[in-house]
Amino acid sequence: MSKLLKNYDILIVGSGIAGLYSSLQFDSNTSVAVVSKGNEGICGSSLAQGGVAAVLQHENDSFDFHVKDTLIAGGYKNDPLSVETLIQEGPEDVKKIIDLGVDFDSDKNGELMMTLEGGHSRRRIVHHRDQTGREMVEKLTATVEQRPNITLCYNTLIFNIEQVLGGFRADLINADGEPQSIFARFVILATGGIGRVYRYTTNPVISTGDGVYLASKLGARIKNLHYIQFHPTAFNSPDCSEQFLISEAVRGEGAKLLNCNLEQFMHRYDERLELAPRDVVSRSIIAESKRTNSNKFYLDITHKGADFIRERFPAITAACLERGYDITKEPVPIFPCQHYLMGGIDVDLNARTTVPRLYAAGECAHTGVHGGNRLASNSLPEALVFGRRAAQDIKRYLAQRLGEVEVSDIPPDISGEEYKENYSDEIREIMQQAYFVMPDRDKMISGLHRAIEIEKELDSRKYAVSYKYCEAKSLACVAKTVLEGALKE
Ligand SMILES: Cc1cc2nc3c(=O)[nH]c(=O)nc-3n(C[C@H](O)[C@H](O)[C@H](O)COP(=O)(O)OP(=O)(O)OC[C@H]3O[C@@H](n4cnc5c(N)ncnc54)[C@H](O)[C@@H]3O)c2cc1C
Repeated sequence: MSKLLKNYDILIVGSGIAGLYSSLQFDSNTSVAVVSKGNEGICGSSLAQGGVAAVLQHENDSFDFHVKDTLIAGGYKNDPLSVETLIQEGPEDVKKIIDLGVDFDSDKNGELMMTLEGGHSRRRIVHHRDQTGREMVEKLTATVEQRPNITLCYNTLIFNIEQVLGGFRADLINADGEPQSIFARFVILATGGIGRVYRYTTNPVISTGDGVYLASKLGARIKNLHYIQFHPTAFNSPDCSEQFLISEAVRGEGAKLLNCNLEQFMHRYDERLELAPRDVVSRSIIAESKRTNSNKFYLDITHKGADFIRERFPAITAACLERGYDITKEPVPIFPCQHYLMGGIDVDLNARTTVPRLYAAGECAHTGVHGGNRLASNSLPEALVFGRRAAQDIKRYLAQRLGEVEVSDIPPDISGEEYKENYSDEIREIMQQAYFVMPDRDKMISGLHRAIEIEKELDSRKYAVSYKYCEAKSLACVAKTVLEGALKE
Protein backbone atom coordinates (compact mmCIF):
# COMPACT_ATOMS: atom_id res chain seq x y z
CA MET A 1 0.00 0.00 0.00
CA SER A 2 1.45 3.39 -1.06
CA LYS A 3 1.97 6.06 1.61
CA LEU A 4 1.03 9.63 0.86
CA LEU A 5 3.74 12.30 0.89
CA LYS A 6 3.01 15.86 2.03
CA ASN A 7 3.18 17.64 -1.28
CA TYR A 8 1.82 16.92 -4.77
CA ASP A 9 1.35 18.81 -8.00
CA ILE A 10 -2.02 17.17 -8.50
CA LEU A 11 -4.51 15.57 -6.15
CA ILE A 12 -7.16 13.45 -7.84
CA VAL A 13 -10.01 12.43 -5.54
CA GLY A 14 -11.35 9.17 -6.95
CA SER A 15 -9.95 6.10 -8.68
CA GLY A 16 -12.83 5.38 -11.08
CA ILE A 17 -12.43 5.84 -14.83
CA ALA A 18 -12.37 9.67 -14.63
CA GLY A 19 -9.67 9.76 -11.95
CA LEU A 20 -7.51 6.97 -13.39
CA TYR A 21 -7.56 8.16 -16.99
CA SER A 22 -6.92 11.75 -16.03
CA SER A 23 -3.89 10.74 -13.89
CA LEU A 24 -2.34 8.98 -16.90
CA GLN A 25 -2.18 12.21 -18.92
CA PHE A 26 0.55 13.77 -16.74
CA ASP A 27 4.26 13.56 -17.54
CA SER A 28 6.71 11.62 -15.42
CA ASN A 29 7.95 14.83 -13.73
CA THR A 30 4.49 15.75 -12.40
CA SER A 31 3.64 14.25 -9.02
CA VAL A 32 0.08 12.95 -8.82
CA ALA A 33 -1.82 11.49 -5.87
CA VAL A 34 -4.91 9.42 -6.75
CA VAL A 35 -6.91 8.86 -3.60
CA SER A 36 -9.93 6.62 -3.12
CA LYS A 37 -12.02 6.16 -0.02
CA GLY A 38 -12.98 2.63 -1.07
CA ASN A 39 -11.07 -0.51 -1.87
CA GLU A 40 -9.68 -1.18 -5.34
CA GLY A 41 -12.56 -1.69 -7.76
CA ILE A 42 -15.30 -0.34 -5.43
CA CYS A 43 -16.57 2.43 -7.68
CA GLY A 44 -19.37 3.14 -10.13
CA SER A 45 -17.02 2.53 -13.04
CA SER A 46 -16.41 -1.11 -12.12
CA LEU A 47 -20.15 -1.82 -12.26
CA ALA A 48 -20.66 -0.53 -15.82
CA GLN A 49 -22.00 -3.39 -17.89
CA GLY A 50 -23.28 -1.99 -21.18
CA GLY A 51 -20.26 -0.24 -22.64
CA VAL A 52 -18.86 2.88 -24.23
CA ALA A 53 -20.75 4.75 -26.94
CA ALA A 54 -18.46 6.06 -29.67
CA VAL A 55 -18.71 6.48 -33.43
CA LEU A 56 -15.80 4.29 -34.54
CA GLN A 57 -17.03 3.59 -38.07
CA HIS A 58 -18.72 6.00 -40.45
CA GLU A 59 -20.36 3.56 -42.90
CA ASN A 60 -23.72 3.35 -41.11
CA ASP A 61 -23.14 5.92 -38.40
CA SER A 62 -21.95 9.51 -38.03
CA PHE A 63 -21.12 12.08 -35.36
CA ASP A 64 -24.35 13.86 -36.34
CA PHE A 65 -26.47 10.76 -35.59
CA HIS A 66 -24.82 10.33 -32.19
CA VAL A 67 -25.27 14.05 -31.41
CA LYS A 68 -28.93 13.84 -32.39
CA ASP A 69 -29.58 10.75 -30.24
CA THR A 70 -27.87 12.44 -27.27
CA LEU A 71 -29.93 15.62 -27.65
CA ILE A 72 -33.20 13.72 -28.04
CA ALA A 73 -32.50 11.64 -24.91
CA GLY A 74 -31.49 14.78 -22.99
CA GLY A 75 -34.72 16.57 -23.97
CA TYR A 76 -32.59 19.24 -25.72
CA LYS A 77 -31.49 20.51 -22.29
CA ASN A 78 -27.90 19.53 -23.19
CA ASP A 79 -25.08 21.97 -23.85
CA PRO A 80 -24.53 21.51 -27.62
CA LEU A 81 -20.81 22.38 -27.47
CA SER A 82 -20.13 19.81 -24.73
CA VAL A 83 -22.09 17.20 -26.69
CA GLU A 84 -20.05 17.85 -29.84
CA THR A 85 -16.80 17.74 -27.89
CA LEU A 86 -17.74 14.41 -26.32
CA ILE A 87 -18.82 12.81 -29.55
CA GLN A 88 -15.99 14.07 -31.74
CA GLU A 89 -13.20 13.34 -29.24
CA GLY A 90 -14.58 10.17 -27.60
CA PRO A 91 -13.47 7.77 -30.37
CA GLU A 92 -9.79 8.85 -30.01
CA ASP A 93 -9.92 8.20 -26.26
CA VAL A 94 -11.46 4.80 -26.87
CA LYS A 95 -8.55 4.00 -29.23
CA LYS A 96 -6.08 5.23 -26.59
CA ILE A 97 -7.45 2.95 -23.90
CA ILE A 98 -7.37 0.03 -26.33
CA ASP A 99 -3.66 0.85 -26.75
CA LEU A 100 -3.36 0.79 -22.95
CA GLY A 101 -4.66 -2.79 -22.99
CA VAL A 102 -8.44 -2.48 -22.57
CA ASP A 103 -10.01 -5.40 -24.38
CA PHE A 104 -13.32 -4.77 -26.13
CA ASP A 105 -15.17 -7.70 -27.72
CA SER A 106 -14.35 -8.30 -31.37
CA ASP A 107 -15.59 -10.75 -34.00
CA LYS A 108 -13.56 -13.49 -35.66
CA ASN A 109 -12.17 -10.98 -38.17
CA GLY A 110 -10.86 -8.80 -35.35
CA GLU A 111 -13.50 -6.09 -35.91
CA LEU A 112 -14.89 -4.43 -32.79
CA MET A 113 -18.42 -5.63 -32.01
CA MET A 114 -20.97 -2.86 -31.46
CA THR A 115 -24.20 -3.24 -29.60
CA LEU A 116 -27.38 -1.18 -29.39
CA GLU A 117 -28.99 0.35 -26.31
CA GLY A 118 -32.15 2.37 -25.65
CA GLY A 119 -32.17 5.75 -27.40
CA HIS A 120 -29.35 4.90 -29.85
CA SER A 121 -30.34 4.87 -33.51
CA ARG A 122 -27.20 2.91 -34.49
CA ARG A 123 -25.09 0.06 -33.09
CA ARG A 124 -22.16 2.03 -31.65
CA ILE A 125 -21.48 0.67 -28.15
CA VAL A 126 -18.22 -1.17 -27.64
CA HIS A 127 -18.18 -3.55 -24.70
CA HIS A 128 -16.33 -6.26 -22.86
CA ARG A 129 -19.12 -8.81 -22.58
CA ASP A 130 -21.30 -7.37 -19.78
CA GLN A 131 -18.34 -6.33 -17.61
CA THR A 132 -17.01 -3.37 -19.55
CA GLY A 133 -16.34 -1.11 -16.57
CA ARG A 134 -14.46 -3.74 -14.62
CA GLU A 135 -12.23 -4.46 -17.61
CA MET A 136 -11.49 -0.74 -18.02
CA VAL A 137 -10.77 -0.14 -14.32
CA GLU A 138 -8.49 -3.19 -14.07
CA LYS A 139 -6.43 -2.30 -17.15
CA LEU A 140 -6.14 1.42 -16.32
CA THR A 141 -5.25 0.63 -12.68
CA ALA A 142 -2.50 -1.71 -13.87
CA THR A 143 -1.11 1.08 -16.07
CA VAL A 144 -1.31 3.65 -13.25
CA GLU A 145 0.55 1.28 -10.93
CA GLN A 146 3.46 1.22 -13.37
CA ARG A 147 3.89 5.00 -13.31
CA PRO A 148 6.40 6.10 -10.65
CA ASN A 149 5.01 9.67 -10.62
CA ILE A 150 1.55 8.49 -9.48
CA THR A 151 0.78 7.50 -5.89
CA LEU A 152 -2.43 5.44 -5.74
CA CYS A 153 -4.01 5.15 -2.28
CA TYR A 154 -7.14 3.21 -1.33
CA ASN A 155 -9.20 3.35 1.88
CA THR A 156 -8.30 7.02 2.23
CA LEU A 157 -11.13 9.46 2.89
CA ILE A 158 -10.77 13.11 1.89
CA PHE A 159 -13.10 14.96 4.27
CA ASN A 160 -12.11 18.60 3.82
CA ILE A 161 -10.42 20.70 1.15
CA GLU A 162 -9.39 24.31 1.68
CA GLN A 163 -7.82 26.88 -0.58
CA VAL A 164 -4.35 27.94 0.56
CA LEU A 165 -1.71 30.06 -1.13
CA GLY A 166 -0.79 28.40 -4.44
CA GLY A 167 -3.24 25.52 -4.21
CA PHE A 168 -5.21 23.43 -1.75
CA ARG A 169 -4.80 21.71 1.60
CA ALA A 170 -6.70 18.44 1.73
CA ASP A 171 -7.49 16.82 5.08
CA LEU A 172 -7.85 13.08 5.06
CA ILE A 173 -8.00 9.91 7.09
CA ASN A 174 -5.37 7.60 5.62
CA ALA A 175 -5.51 3.84 5.17
CA ASP A 176 -4.07 3.36 8.71
CA GLY A 177 -6.99 5.38 10.10
CA GLU A 178 -4.74 8.35 10.90
CA PRO A 179 -5.52 12.00 10.12
CA GLN A 180 -3.18 13.70 7.66
CA SER A 181 -3.05 16.87 5.55
CA ILE A 182 -1.50 17.09 2.11
CA PHE A 183 -0.92 20.01 -0.23
CA ALA A 184 -1.70 19.96 -3.96
CA ARG A 185 -1.39 22.74 -6.50
CA PHE A 186 -4.42 21.48 -8.44
CA VAL A 187 -7.31 19.26 -7.44
CA ILE A 188 -9.48 17.14 -9.71
CA LEU A 189 -12.66 15.89 -8.08
CA ALA A 190 -13.66 12.54 -9.61
CA THR A 191 -15.83 11.24 -6.80
CA GLY A 192 -18.63 9.65 -8.85
CA GLY A 193 -22.38 9.70 -8.25
CA ILE A 194 -24.87 10.42 -5.48
CA GLY A 195 -26.94 7.22 -5.63
CA ARG A 196 -26.65 6.45 -1.93
CA VAL A 197 -28.94 9.41 -1.20
CA TYR A 198 -31.70 6.95 -2.26
CA ARG A 199 -32.87 3.79 -0.58
CA TYR A 200 -32.72 1.87 -3.87
CA THR A 201 -29.91 2.54 -6.30
CA THR A 202 -27.56 0.72 -8.64
CA ASN A 203 -24.66 2.76 -7.23
CA PRO A 204 -21.97 1.33 -4.94
CA VAL A 205 -21.43 2.38 -1.29
CA ILE A 206 -18.92 5.09 -2.19
CA SER A 207 -21.53 7.07 -4.19
CA THR A 208 -22.48 9.55 -1.48
CA GLY A 209 -21.86 12.81 -3.34
CA ASP A 210 -18.71 13.78 -1.40
CA GLY A 211 -17.34 15.73 -4.36
CA VAL A 212 -20.50 17.83 -4.52
CA TYR A 213 -20.22 18.54 -0.78
CA LEU A 214 -16.48 19.38 -0.93
CA ALA A 215 -16.97 21.63 -3.97
CA SER A 216 -19.97 23.40 -2.41
CA LYS A 217 -17.91 24.17 0.68
CA LEU A 218 -15.21 25.67 -1.54
CA GLY A 219 -17.87 27.89 -3.12
CA ALA A 220 -17.99 26.13 -6.51
CA ARG A 221 -21.20 26.36 -8.53
CA ILE A 222 -23.38 23.25 -8.50
CA LYS A 223 -25.77 22.90 -11.41
CA ASN A 224 -28.89 20.83 -12.09
CA LEU A 225 -28.30 18.43 -9.24
CA HIS A 226 -31.96 17.48 -9.51
CA TYR A 227 -31.34 15.98 -12.97
CA ILE A 228 -31.32 12.42 -11.71
CA GLN A 229 -31.76 9.32 -13.84
CA PHE A 230 -33.75 6.31 -12.75
CA HIS A 231 -32.87 3.09 -14.54
CA PRO A 232 -35.96 1.13 -15.57
CA THR A 233 -34.59 -2.40 -15.23
CA ALA A 234 -32.81 -3.08 -11.96
CA PHE A 235 -33.33 -6.58 -10.56
CA ASN A 236 -36.18 -6.12 -8.07
CA SER A 237 -34.90 -7.15 -4.63
CA PRO A 238 -36.66 -4.92 -2.05
CA ASP A 239 -34.48 -6.21 0.84
CA CYS A 240 -31.28 -4.87 -0.64
CA SER A 241 -30.32 -1.20 -1.13
CA GLU A 242 -27.77 -1.83 -3.94
CA GLN A 243 -29.92 -3.08 -6.79
CA PHE A 244 -28.27 -5.24 -9.43
CA LEU A 245 -28.59 -3.59 -12.82
CA ILE A 246 -29.86 -5.51 -15.82
CA SER A 247 -28.19 -3.60 -18.58
CA GLU A 248 -30.09 -1.76 -21.27
CA ALA A 249 -28.09 -3.88 -23.71
CA VAL A 250 -30.43 -6.77 -22.80
CA ARG A 251 -33.32 -4.77 -24.26
CA GLY A 252 -30.95 -3.75 -27.07
CA GLU A 253 -30.67 -7.46 -27.91
CA GLY A 254 -34.48 -7.82 -27.99
CA ALA A 255 -35.71 -8.41 -24.41
CA LYS A 256 -39.36 -7.53 -23.75
CA LEU A 257 -40.88 -5.76 -20.76
CA LEU A 258 -43.89 -7.50 -19.22
CA ASN A 259 -46.43 -6.35 -16.62
CA CYS A 260 -47.89 -8.35 -13.72
CA ASN A 261 -50.07 -10.29 -16.20
CA LEU A 262 -46.95 -11.16 -18.23
CA GLU A 263 -48.22 -8.94 -21.07
CA GLN A 264 -46.16 -6.45 -23.08
CA PHE A 265 -47.24 -2.88 -22.34
CA MET A 266 -44.74 -0.40 -23.80
CA HIS A 267 -46.99 0.15 -26.90
CA ARG A 268 -49.36 2.05 -24.58
CA TYR A 269 -46.70 4.65 -23.78
CA ASP A 270 -44.12 5.08 -26.56
CA GLU A 271 -43.73 4.01 -30.18
CA ARG A 272 -40.05 3.18 -29.59
CA LEU A 273 -41.30 0.42 -27.26
CA GLU A 274 -38.52 -1.22 -25.21
CA LEU A 275 -35.87 0.92 -26.92
CA ALA A 276 -37.25 4.26 -25.74
CA PRO A 277 -34.80 6.26 -23.55
CA ARG A 278 -34.52 5.38 -19.86
CA ASP A 279 -36.66 8.17 -18.43
CA VAL A 280 -39.51 7.27 -20.80
CA VAL A 281 -39.32 3.56 -19.93
CA SER A 282 -39.12 4.29 -16.17
CA ARG A 283 -42.15 6.58 -16.34
CA SER A 284 -44.03 4.01 -18.45
CA ILE A 285 -43.40 1.33 -15.81
CA ILE A 286 -44.69 3.60 -13.02
CA ALA A 287 -47.76 4.56 -15.11
CA GLU A 288 -48.43 0.88 -15.90
CA SER A 289 -47.94 0.07 -12.22
CA LYS A 290 -50.73 2.54 -11.38
CA ARG A 291 -52.94 1.14 -14.15
CA THR A 292 -52.51 -2.48 -13.01
CA ASN A 293 -52.20 -1.61 -9.31
CA SER A 294 -49.12 -3.80 -9.09
CA ASN A 295 -45.34 -3.35 -8.69
CA LYS A 296 -44.61 -6.62 -10.45
CA PHE A 297 -42.70 -6.21 -13.73
CA TYR A 298 -40.49 -8.58 -15.69
CA LEU A 299 -37.85 -8.62 -18.39
CA ASP A 300 -37.96 -11.53 -20.82
CA ILE A 301 -35.14 -12.45 -23.23
CA THR A 302 -35.77 -16.21 -23.30
CA HIS A 303 -36.53 -16.16 -27.07
CA LYS A 304 -32.83 -15.49 -27.82
CA GLY A 305 -31.71 -18.95 -26.73
CA ALA A 306 -29.58 -20.01 -23.76
CA ASP A 307 -26.21 -20.15 -25.58
CA PHE A 308 -26.48 -16.60 -26.89
CA ILE A 309 -27.62 -15.22 -23.52
CA ARG A 310 -24.88 -16.98 -21.55
CA GLU A 311 -22.18 -15.88 -23.99
CA ARG A 312 -23.35 -12.25 -24.33
CA PHE A 313 -24.43 -11.65 -20.72
CA PRO A 314 -22.41 -13.99 -18.51
CA ALA A 315 -22.37 -11.72 -15.42
CA ILE A 316 -26.08 -10.90 -15.65
CA THR A 317 -26.95 -14.58 -16.14
CA ALA A 318 -24.85 -15.54 -13.11
CA ALA A 319 -26.22 -12.71 -10.93
CA CYS A 320 -29.84 -13.66 -11.76
CA LEU A 321 -29.10 -17.33 -11.00
CA GLU A 322 -27.64 -16.28 -7.62
CA ARG A 323 -30.96 -14.53 -6.96
CA GLY A 324 -32.97 -17.63 -7.92
CA TYR A 325 -33.86 -16.82 -11.57
CA ASP A 326 -32.60 -18.45 -14.76
CA ILE A 327 -32.73 -15.61 -17.30
CA THR A 328 -32.27 -18.12 -20.15
CA LYS A 329 -35.54 -19.88 -19.21
CA GLU A 330 -37.84 -17.39 -17.46
CA PRO A 331 -38.66 -13.67 -17.18
CA VAL A 332 -36.82 -11.94 -14.30
CA PRO A 333 -38.41 -9.38 -11.90
CA ILE A 334 -37.36 -5.77 -12.45
CA PHE A 335 -38.28 -2.31 -11.19
CA PRO A 336 -36.83 1.21 -11.66
CA CYS A 337 -34.32 2.65 -9.18
CA GLN A 338 -31.88 5.58 -8.94
CA HIS A 339 -29.00 5.14 -11.35
CA TYR A 340 -27.17 8.24 -12.51
CA LEU A 341 -26.58 11.94 -11.85
CA MET A 342 -26.69 14.24 -14.89
CA GLY A 343 -26.11 17.46 -12.91
CA GLY A 344 -23.23 18.13 -10.56
CA ILE A 345 -20.25 20.41 -10.04
CA ASP A 346 -20.53 22.86 -12.90
CA VAL A 347 -17.54 22.78 -15.27
CA ASP A 348 -16.55 24.31 -18.59
CA LEU A 349 -15.24 22.47 -21.65
CA ASN A 350 -11.86 22.07 -19.90
CA ALA A 351 -13.46 20.59 -16.77
CA ARG A 352 -12.69 23.75 -14.76
CA THR A 353 -15.07 24.53 -11.92
CA THR A 354 -15.84 28.10 -10.91
CA VAL A 355 -13.03 27.89 -8.29
CA PRO A 356 -9.54 28.49 -9.72
CA ARG A 357 -7.34 25.32 -9.85
CA LEU A 358 -10.29 23.11 -8.91
CA TYR A 359 -11.46 20.70 -11.62
CA ALA A 360 -14.18 18.05 -11.73
CA ALA A 361 -14.66 15.10 -14.09
CA GLY A 362 -16.82 12.02 -14.42
CA GLU A 363 -20.22 11.60 -12.84
CA CYS A 364 -19.72 14.27 -10.13
CA ALA A 365 -19.28 16.95 -12.83
CA HIS A 366 -21.96 18.81 -14.75
CA THR A 367 -20.53 19.18 -18.26
CA GLY A 368 -23.95 19.71 -19.84
CA VAL A 369 -23.43 16.63 -22.03
CA HIS A 370 -26.46 14.72 -20.81
CA GLY A 371 -29.11 17.42 -20.53
CA GLY A 372 -32.14 16.18 -18.60
CA ASN A 373 -31.50 12.49 -19.23
CA ARG A 374 -28.34 10.58 -20.11
CA LEU A 375 -28.21 8.51 -23.25
CA ALA A 376 -27.05 4.99 -22.38
CA SER A 377 -23.27 4.42 -22.41
CA ASN A 378 -22.45 8.11 -22.79
CA SER A 379 -20.99 8.47 -19.28
CA LEU A 380 -17.87 6.33 -19.59
CA PRO A 381 -16.79 8.32 -22.67
CA GLU A 382 -17.65 11.54 -20.81
CA ALA A 383 -15.35 10.47 -17.94
CA LEU A 384 -12.58 9.76 -20.48
CA VAL A 385 -12.92 12.92 -22.58
CA PHE A 386 -13.36 15.44 -19.75
CA GLY A 387 -10.93 13.63 -17.42
CA ARG A 388 -8.28 14.00 -20.16
CA ARG A 389 -9.29 17.61 -20.85
CA ALA A 390 -8.90 18.52 -17.15
CA ALA A 391 -5.34 17.19 -17.20
CA GLN A 392 -4.50 18.89 -20.49
CA ASP A 393 -5.72 22.22 -19.15
CA ILE A 394 -3.74 21.87 -15.91
CA LYS A 395 -0.59 21.01 -17.89
CA ARG A 396 -0.67 24.48 -19.43
CA TYR A 397 -0.26 26.02 -15.95
CA LEU A 398 2.10 23.56 -14.33
CA ALA A 399 5.21 25.53 -15.27
CA GLN A 400 3.96 28.56 -13.31
CA ARG A 401 5.21 27.65 -9.86
CA LEU A 402 4.90 30.01 -6.89
CA GLY A 403 7.71 28.26 -4.99
CA GLU A 404 7.49 25.33 -2.60
CA VAL A 405 4.64 25.42 -0.13
CA GLU A 406 5.30 24.37 3.45
CA VAL A 407 2.77 21.88 4.77
CA SER A 408 2.32 21.81 8.52
CA ASP A 409 3.18 18.58 10.30
CA ILE A 410 0.23 19.06 12.62
CA PRO A 411 -2.50 16.63 11.50
CA PRO A 412 -6.10 17.87 11.20
CA ASP A 413 -8.19 17.58 14.34
CA ILE A 414 -10.65 14.70 13.94
CA SER A 415 -11.62 14.38 17.60
CA GLY A 416 -15.13 14.89 18.95
CA GLU A 417 -18.27 13.19 20.14
CA GLU A 418 -18.92 9.78 18.54
CA TYR A 419 -21.49 10.07 15.72
CA LYS A 420 -24.24 7.57 16.52
CA GLU A 421 -27.22 9.11 14.71
CA ASN A 422 -28.71 7.57 11.57
CA TYR A 423 -29.51 10.61 9.49
CA SER A 424 -28.32 8.86 6.31
CA ASP A 425 -31.22 6.38 6.35
CA GLU A 426 -33.69 9.16 7.15
CA ILE A 427 -32.45 11.18 4.16
CA ARG A 428 -32.66 8.12 1.88
CA GLU A 429 -36.28 7.57 2.89
CA ILE A 430 -37.10 11.25 2.23
CA MET A 431 -35.59 11.12 -1.25
CA GLN A 432 -37.19 7.79 -2.14
CA GLN A 433 -40.63 9.12 -1.21
CA ALA A 434 -40.30 12.72 -2.43
CA TYR A 435 -38.20 12.65 -5.58
CA PHE A 436 -38.41 9.31 -7.36
CA VAL A 437 -39.63 8.74 -10.96
CA MET A 438 -42.82 10.76 -10.37
CA PRO A 439 -41.89 13.52 -7.85
CA ASP A 440 -44.30 14.40 -5.02
CA ARG A 441 -44.27 18.18 -4.44
CA ASP A 442 -45.65 18.18 -0.87
CA LYS A 443 -43.12 15.57 0.21
CA MET A 444 -40.38 17.56 -1.53
CA ILE A 445 -41.24 20.66 0.52
CA SER A 446 -41.30 18.82 3.86
CA GLY A 447 -38.20 16.82 2.81
CA LEU A 448 -36.29 20.00 2.05
CA HIS A 449 -37.09 21.45 5.50
CA ARG A 450 -35.90 18.27 7.16
CA ALA A 451 -32.68 18.08 5.07
CA ILE A 452 -31.84 21.66 6.11
CA GLU A 453 -32.49 20.81 9.79
CA ILE A 454 -30.27 17.72 9.55
CA GLU A 455 -27.49 19.72 7.89
CA LYS A 456 -27.63 22.31 10.69
CA GLU A 457 -27.62 19.62 13.35
CA LEU A 458 -24.55 17.96 11.78
CA ASP A 459 -22.70 21.29 11.61
CA SER A 460 -23.62 22.53 15.06
CA ARG A 461 -22.14 19.63 17.06
CA LYS A 462 -18.49 18.64 17.15
CA TYR A 463 -18.60 15.03 16.03
CA ALA A 464 -15.46 12.95 15.60
CA VAL A 465 -14.65 12.67 11.90
CA SER A 466 -15.59 9.22 10.60
CA TYR A 467 -16.80 7.70 7.31
CA LYS A 468 -20.34 7.53 8.69
CA TYR A 469 -20.38 11.15 9.82
CA CYS A 470 -18.89 12.45 6.55
CA GLU A 471 -21.38 10.39 4.54
CA ALA A 472 -24.29 11.92 6.46
CA LYS A 473 -22.94 15.44 5.78
CA SER A 474 -22.57 14.76 2.06
CA LEU A 475 -26.04 13.18 1.81
CA ALA A 476 -27.69 16.09 3.66
CA CYS A 477 -25.99 18.58 1.34
CA VAL A 478 -26.98 16.57 -1.76
CA ALA A 479 -30.63 16.08 -0.66
CA LYS A 480 -31.00 19.77 0.16
CA THR A 481 -29.50 20.89 -3.18
CA VAL A 482 -31.55 18.38 -5.22
CA LEU A 483 -34.85 19.33 -3.59
CA GLU A 484 -34.13 23.08 -3.74
CA GLY A 485 -33.36 22.80 -7.46
CA ALA A 486 -36.36 20.62 -8.22
CA LEU A 487 -38.76 22.90 -6.37
CA LYS A 488 -37.56 25.88 -8.41
CA GLU A 489 -38.43 24.19 -11.73
C1 LIG B 1 -24.54 -0.50 -12.35
C2 LIG B 1 -24.03 0.57 -13.26
C3 LIG B 1 -23.91 0.33 -14.61
C4 LIG B 1 -23.44 1.32 -15.47
N1 LIG B 1 -23.29 1.05 -16.81
C5 LIG B 1 -22.74 1.99 -17.61
C6 LIG B 1 -22.45 1.71 -18.97
O1 LIG B 1 -22.65 0.60 -19.43
N2 LIG B 1 -21.93 2.70 -19.74
C7 LIG B 1 -21.67 3.94 -19.26
O2 LIG B 1 -21.21 4.80 -20.01
N3 LIG B 1 -21.92 4.22 -17.96
C8 LIG B 1 -22.43 3.29 -17.13
N4 LIG B 1 -22.66 3.57 -15.82
C9 LIG B 1 -22.27 4.88 -15.31
C10 LIG B 1 -20.76 4.95 -15.17
O3 LIG B 1 -20.27 3.72 -14.72
C11 LIG B 1 -20.36 6.03 -14.17
O4 LIG B 1 -21.00 7.22 -14.46
C12 LIG B 1 -18.87 6.29 -14.27
O5 LIG B 1 -18.16 5.10 -14.24
C13 LIG B 1 -18.45 7.17 -13.13
O6 LIG B 1 -17.05 7.20 -13.10
P1 LIG B 1 -16.34 8.17 -12.12
O7 LIG B 1 -14.87 7.97 -12.32
O8 LIG B 1 -16.89 9.53 -12.26
O9 LIG B 1 -16.77 7.69 -10.64
P2 LIG B 1 -16.61 6.28 -9.91
O10 LIG B 1 -16.18 5.22 -10.83
O11 LIG B 1 -17.85 6.04 -9.13
O12 LIG B 1 -15.42 6.55 -8.89
C14 LIG B 1 -15.56 7.42 -7.79
C15 LIG B 1 -14.31 7.37 -6.96
O13 LIG B 1 -14.31 8.44 -6.01
C16 LIG B 1 -13.86 7.96 -4.75
N5 LIG B 1 -14.36 8.85 -3.70
C17 LIG B 1 -15.63 9.34 -3.54
N6 LIG B 1 -15.66 10.17 -2.47
C18 LIG B 1 -14.41 10.20 -1.95
C19 LIG B 1 -13.80 10.85 -0.83
N7 LIG B 1 -14.50 11.66 -0.01
N8 LIG B 1 -12.49 10.64 -0.57
C20 LIG B 1 -11.77 9.81 -1.36
N9 LIG B 1 -12.28 9.17 -2.44
C21 LIG B 1 -13.58 9.36 -2.73
C22 LIG B 1 -14.43 6.54 -4.70
O14 LIG B 1 -13.78 5.77 -3.72
C23 LIG B 1 -14.15 6.08 -6.14
O15 LIG B 1 -12.82 5.65 -6.26
C24 LIG B 1 -23.12 2.60 -14.95
C25 LIG B 1 -23.23 2.83 -13.58
C26 LIG B 1 -23.68 1.83 -12.73
C27 LIG B 1 -23.78 2.11 -11.26
